[in-house]
Amino acid sequence: MWVYRSDVTSTDGVPPGSLVTVCDQRGKPLGTALYSSSSQIAIRMISRETASREPVADFPSLLRQRIADALAYREKVVRDTDACRLIFSEGDFLPGLIVDRYNDILCVQVLTQGMDADLVRETVISALTEHAQPASIVERVDPRIRELESLAPRTSGVLQGDKTSTTFTMNGVHFRYEALEGQKSGAFLDQRENYAAVAQYAHGNALDVFCYQGGFALHLAPHCSNVTGVDSSRPALEVAEQSAALNQREIEWIEGNAFDLLKDYASSNRRYDTIVLDPPAFAKTKRDLDSALRGYKELNLRALKMLRPRGILVSCSCSYHVSQPAFLEMLASAALDAHRTLRLVEVRGQARDHPILLNVPETAYLKCVISTVS
Ligand code: SAH
Repeated sequence: MWVYRSDVTSTDGVPPGSLVTVCDQRGKPLGTALYSSSSQIAIRMISRETASREPVADFPSLLRQRIADALAYREKVVRDTDACRLIFSEGDFLPGLIVDRYNDILCVQVLTQGMDADLVRETVISALTEHAQPASIVERVDPRIRELESLAPRTSGVLQGDKTSTTFTMNGVHFRYEALEGQKSGAFLDQRENYAAVAQYAHGNALDVFCYQGGFALHLAPHCSNVTGVDSSRPALEVAEQSAALNQREIEWIEGNAFDLLKDYASSNRRYDTIVLDPPAFAKTKRDLDSALRGYKELNLRALKMLRPRGILVSCSCSYHVSQPAFLEMLASAALDAHRTLRLVEVRGQARDHPILLNVPETAYLKCVISTVS
């Protein structure tokens, strides 16, 4: 589904972001792809239709079909929420396009030259308006991605309508949403099903480490005697507190460095019954793998030392480069060093509205391991 620049023989005269026919070495057409003149991923397949040697003729109607299919799939797999990922790039055969729904606001992210073209943008906005009828559509821009794709700078803002904040609900828990603030498109929707899973086992004193806007903490609160959330980002904790108030929950939010805090808490003999670890991606590239695994192990080791018998450890990694087997091995090694026994309850991944393509391994990135500790 992807072709790297190093494997492309000739790109002479191909305009950035254009549709191209992809052929095998013998010249047999394989389908249509979106071309990027600057990314290492030069080609992202968008259709396997090979009836003619020309690229797909009516791209807007292909886009409309793909968007309708993506939304129909969500109707089947998304429950108990008005927030989910409607379009997940390659996972929905729309490489370079991400669309998240937060109740009545849609949030769009454009990641490639192909998806940035005016005609594509117009088609996407009109199809989303037709199918999802949002109050507004906003765009979140990652300046680094635009630079990598040699796209002119753009600022995040409203594309249609004027609403920029709302509330949304998942698994019965309410959240505040500020469309033009925060990380990613706002919340970490990929953890939605994991929040509900973890809520089944959580109990006692709970610690949500790297809590961001409190996704896990707010789901733990109804089941635990007290909950503390830790994050280094004050703005994230402010949104978390607004959401806690929406749900009439009291949660203690601590702004600080999770590594230092876990070290202090472990050495002052604090004890917990439930600990969630959901750090940012430690391995951004393959080269970071060893140091990432050391980072994960240090965190998990400290958490294991603080968990009471029958405690619940929820350990996550959103680094694609850390495979599930490598992550489980790291956990096993942390348990050995901590002289604790970990029993797996659930080995989970990303929510189903973030579909995985088996042949594009990069589409599977999230690990969420729930275990009991003795
Ligand atoms: N669990 C969250 C998502 C966590 S994303 C959810 O379900 O919504 C990772 C978070 O780690 C971010 O909010 C970031 O601000 C925070 N972070 C990064 N480095 C940190 C550090 N050293 N100490 C504490 N928090 C940190």
